[in-house]
Amino acid sequence: MALYINDDCTACDACVEECPNEAITPGDPIYVIDPTKCSECVGAFDEPQCRLVCPADCIPDNPDYRETREELQEKYDRLHG
Ligand code: SF4
Ligand code: SF4
Repeated sequence: MALYINDDCTACDACVEECPNEAITPGDPIYVIDPTKCSECVGAFDEPQCRLVCPADCIPDNPDYRETREELQEKYDRLHG
């Protein structure tokens, strides 16, 4: 399942550099996660890195993108060829 950024985002920019899939971009007014790129960090890290660094605790699961661990790994592999 991909994650998404909710309205509590303060646009601090801390998460962007942490994403192994370059899935996070600045939006207006809040930052945005591309669900087709977010693998929940599967393939790269044990837990979602954006959540670890986010001071606003505003990155919940995206209920519209439910995927198995295998599907998340395939997504990661596709992105990194
Ligand atoms: S969970 Fe990982 S892959 Fe998904 S947006 Fe956050 S840092 Fe990127
Ligand atoms: S770390 Fe959190 S508050 Fe900062 S830009 Fe990313 S989602 Fe927004």
